[in-house]
Amino acid sequence: MRKVLIAGNWKMHKTGMEAVEFVEAVRAQLLESDRVEALICPPSLYIAPMMAGVRGTPLQIGAQTMNEHNEGAYTGEISPLMLKDVHVEYVIIGHSERRQYYNETDESVNRKVLAAYNYGLTPIVCVGESLETREADETESFVNEQVARAFEGVEADDAKRAVIAYEPIWAIGTGKTATADDANAVCRSIRSKMEELFNEDVAQSVRIQYGGSVKPDNIEELLSKSDIDGALVGGASLEPQSFLQLVEAGHNR
Ligand code: 13P
Repeated sequence: MRKVLIAGNWKMHKTGMEAVEFVEAVRAQLLESDRVEALICPPSLYIAPMMAGVRGTPLQIGAQTMNEHNEGAYTGEISPLMLKDVHVEYVIIGHSERRQYYNETDESVNRKVLAAYNYGLTPIVCVGESLETREADETESFVNEQVARAFEGVEADDAKRAVIAYEPIWAIGTGKTATADDANAVCRSIRSKMEELFNEDVAQSVRIQYGGSVKPDNIEELLSKSDIDGALVGGASLEPQSFLQLVEAGHNR
């Protein structure tokens, strides 16, 4: 049984004080569960202080992106070594906003995925199609190609513990969600692709999240589907109560 992963991607939101308040509000209410993991990926400035704030609780803190080099003259970047140093386990790689605004490509996503594994981090690899691609009925081939490129050169043992987030670009921050059945069909297709690229064991182990306007009122239906193992959540992860409801839905699946 794959463990549900509810991950909040805070993007560029919150002040340091608000981040501390969120941890205080959520900390005491999250119960240790063998069915669900709860993760927040805040702006990188807050990773270390939030990590200190969640010590001894089930809430995990991850990163939204990283550079593929361990150090060097890369102004403004943070490295896998630095993430490891503050005990991060999960790092989001290749979010569509990074592909769109910061020129991330399938090649750079692949380099980052390899670097994450090299440092013992677990990548949450984001894939997803534009509205144009969906309307051209090319979603599955497009998304599966992104998956294949992201995992080039990855060993099966590493691929097994990957998380893949299927986030249709047209559903991000728009209030539009893919129907649970449509989302599940793409997630199932990604799982088949992982079997083709690696083997059945990898395909059955890899966790596939859906992302794009996930809210407390649609999470249950999404999680009831065979191939959706969690959610990558923007807006609804910013408020403690809605984040807790999402985690609760994961626990009750
Ligand atoms: P929203 O949940 O705000 O649509 O954002 C989704 C997302 O991009 C998570 O990475």
